[in-house]
Amino acid sequence: MGLRSNRIAIVGFGPRGLGALESLVRHAGHGDVTLAVDLFDPLDWPAAGPNFSPDESKVCLLNLPVRSIDLPPPVKGSGVGDMPEWLGQSGADAEAFVPRARLGSYMNARFRDLLTRLPDGMTVTLHHLQITGAERDGRQWRLAGGPGRHGPYDHVLLSLGQPESGDDDQTARWRVHATRHGLPFKEAYPAAALVEAADSWAGRTVGIRGLGLSALDVVQALTLGLGGRFEAGRYLPSGREPARIVPFSLDGHAPAPKPLNQTVDARFEPLPQENVSLRIALETALRGPSGEALKTVCDAIAMPALRILRETGRDANADDADAGAVDRWLAAEREAPGSQEKRGTIDALRAGLAEAAGDEPPSVGYVVGQLWRKWQPLLREVYDGARKPAGTAQAMTGFDEGLKRYSYGAPVETLQNFLTLAEAGLVDPRAADDPDIALTAQGWQLKAGDRAVTASVMVDSVLPPAALNPVSDPLVTGLIEASGLAAVADGLGARCTPDGAAIDADGAVVEGLWLTGRLTNGSTIAADSIHDCFGLIQERWAKAVVARIGQTDSAP
Ligand SMILES: Cc1cc2nc3c(=O)[nH]c(=O)nc-3n(C[C@H](O)[C@H](O)[C@H](O)COP(=O)(O)OP(=O)(O)OC[C@H]3O[C@@H](n4cnc5c(N)ncnc54)[C@H](O)[C@@H]3O)c2cc1C
Repeated sequence: MGLRSNRIAIVGFGPRGLGALESLVRHAGHGDVTLAVDLFDPLDWPAAGPNFSPDESKVCLLNLPVRSIDLPPPVKGSGVGDMPEWLGQSGADAEAFVPRARLGSYMNARFRDLLTRLPDGMTVTLHHLQITGAERDGRQWRLAGGPGRHGPYDHVLLSLGQPESGDDDQTARWRVHATRHGLPFKEAYPAAALVEAADSWAGRTVGIRGLGLSALDVVQALTLGLGGRFEAGRYLPSGREPARIVPFSLDGHAPAPKPLNQTVDARFEPLPQENVSLRIALETALRGPSGEALKTVCDAIAMPALRILRETGRDANADDADAGAVDRWLAAEREAPGSQEKRGTIDALRAGLAEAAGDEPPSVGYVVGQLWRKWQPLLREVYDGARKPAGTAQAMTGFDEGLKRYSYGAPVETLQNFLTLAEAGLVDPRAADDPDIALTAQGWQLKAGDRAVTASVMVDSVLPPAALNPVSDPLVTGLIEASGLAAVADGLGARCTPDGAAIDADGAVVEGLWLTGRLTNGSTIAADSIHDCFGLIQERWAKAVVARIGQTDSAP
């Protein structure tokens, strides 16, 4: 039998592109195939992506400690070990939340090492290019980007992270307002560029749109990034920071802290039989009617949550340590995530920090959120591999998104810093949305009750939703028009099979076009994690592509 050959393009080469390439290397090394793989990404650090760029500010920390980074090992024979080993972290340092830039350096090293270990018959070429279009050429694909056209390719994998998206109504209005009055209106990232811009903001009031993990990065950038320090529970300013930083969101609440250390974290570990129950519940929920899916899943969360609440010291007579209280909490979460929180921002933050440190028994929300974090791999495994009705996809992704305030929580130290800054009056978190925000010639006037403050600088820390609709990247919009790339449902990402094959609006597979990552939200769940970048989807994709090799033999 002669050699079978294929050409493959991976468009977007962040961590998930690397995960896909590694899977391809693992599955392709079987002698009778030749594979020419082209990688496309305009950024300087292949495999790092923008969020983990080695050039990013060191104040941007990973949202998980070193001990929790559990990636599959690099390919066989690799000179780069696993992440904790590569970082030289061990013992107590495994509790560290290292800068995201270091994960990017690790990804880049892993990629460079991989290039020296390609199996016979496989070549990999990296193009520092943004791809702007893809079109069919018979059964193959050609790509446009830079000065020329590329291909033809038998298989194209889009691994774009968060593609460029249009402004929403609010940011569109605010951009016009900022331009008209000469006011800075900046993106949160790259944080390194934000720090540079912020050097001229000393003494001003800076608003931050959003109060999630990215807002915490912005606060760190505007304080630590400008030379301030935290010492003995106090903030020592450098004099270069703004006079006031006003992060705001609809509910004004910051994400919860992660458990302080492994000992506290272990209290939230689900038991083996609880994992089995959740798996069964997920499978049942995904098969059944959409209206019942979340209730089915929540019923499987309730018992483990109650067990942990009791084991961690909630008095059995306490209001929230009985089954009814857990059920009520979960019911509220299904209706309106976060609506259970009636405390003010600072009170909730203090309570969260005490729970994270193990100084106070955890609340129902904290327990449910930590359980959900620990179930993320199981959730992905079951969800991503299943067929599910669109309504179920909307319900499940919405529920997961809501619980991210716990499951994607922040390091204790970051939130402790935030609290210190709030107590010192430098940070002033608020609940605000239109119409509480008035646009004036001086900036953005935020009103909360009788307290008004005007920000003359605004930083946008809100990420576009993980949905196909707002994407403005011409590669994606072109594919929607020409190849029928379609959303799972309103507000969700693109339809694809469990191995990533794109599905058009008529339900047919778009031959040779594959998708992975945030863009597939709804077909997949919980993609915003480094662990998902090296997960089952990339494995299934590589197997599917290798299985098809020869069916569309490329011309040699
Ligand atoms: C601010 C921020 C912080 C985060 N922090 C964490 C964290 O601490 N821990 C964690 O587990 N996860 C974190 N995440 C989630 C994170 O996005 C994923 O873990 C990971 O970066 C996803 O990798 P990716 O390869 O899918 O996307 P990305 O890393 O975004 O990579 C996509 C790549 O595609 C390229 N690209 C896009 N369009 C094109 C095109 N048309 N042509 C060519 N190339 C293109 C981009 O240049 C980019 O390099 C964070 C996300 C954000 C936004």
